[in-house]
Amino acid sequence: MAASAGPEIERLISLLAKLPGLGPRSARRAALALLKRREQLLVPLAASLVETAEKVVSCSVCGAPDTRDPCAICADDARDNGLLCVVEEAGALWAMERSGAFRGKYHVLGGLLSALDGVGPEHLRIAELVGRARGGVREVVLALPATVDGQTTAHYVAERIAGQGVEVTSLARGVPVGGELDWLDDGTIVQALKARRPT
Ligand code: ZN
Repeated sequence: MAASAGPEIERLISLLAKLPGLGPRSARRAALALLKRREQLLVPLAASLVETAEKVVSCSVCGAPDTRDPCAICADDARDNGLLCVVEEAGALWAMERSGAFRGKYHVLGGLLSALDGVGPEHLRIAELVGRARGGVREVVLALPATVDGQTTAHYVAERIAGQGVEVTSLARGVPVGGELDWLDDGTIVQALKARRPT
């Protein structure tokens, strides 16, 4: 395709197009919005990206991205260390936090088991989870997607934790959970958490 703008702008568009939910067309619209609002949007965004890229780390405890290690949630002594919520990615963690219904701690797996995509337990933070579950956790809440991979992962995790005196529960079914948590309103998340059941 012939470039219709300078190489820097084409590069910006091609990078934006890699973002979830943005194709080439949306990326062009986003780039145009940035270029039209150079001082209000483009310059502050560029500075924010540089700052975030320099400071972002994965929390060595839960695996969530933050600018501190341990992250703000893991370092919060007011939260319940005995309650651990397992999520696929940090997006679900952020959704749970927005709902304000969960006062325990989290564990980010970094994906789901998938035979099709060749994702095995060794690719996820499952060993770390088993280790944490041994250390004084009384309940592990699985907030994983209601997809085949999500449920396969949930069963595998539940089996690995079983026999350690830890209760394993899942968010209530009937409401979309896990990977779709980002899209749920806070009230639905609160309900799914309240109605969680033993796995
Ligand atoms: Zn953490």
